[in-house]
Amino acid sequence: MIRKQLRVYQFTVCSNGVVNVNDGEITRSVRLDGADAARCSCGDDDCVHVRLVNEHPHIIREALVNSCDIVSVDGGNLIFEPSERGDRLVAFSDVSDWDGVTDALRKRGIGHGAVYHLPDF
Ligand SMILES: [Zn+2]
Repeated sequence: MIRKQLRVYQFTVCSNGVVNVNDGEITRSVRLDGADAARCSCGDDDCVHVRLVNEHPHIIREALVNSCDIVSVDGGNLIFEPSERGDRLVAFSDVSDWDGVTDALRKRGIGHGAVYHLPDF
């Protein structure tokens, strides 16, 4: 009988939002750009690490919380990624009322189209 060996991956999240994926031997770092797992230190464009991070929304959420500014508004939270050219809205979280969130965006001069294309955690 052939026993299939399953790798157990462990995730840790740094204070800068980098997700570390450990397969028991090697740790790879996956950088998040907004809500998308964008880049991995292994250098493979289609690497398993980025895919694994994408399959675990709570890991992405933790990374965003660690690296971004969370602004509570009526109806939910706006998640901003700080940048040199000003904070950039990258996601939402804990949304209970999209109308309230849309109002908050309008007050900040952000187009409400963001509610359709940015992720909600
Ligand atoms: Zn990788």
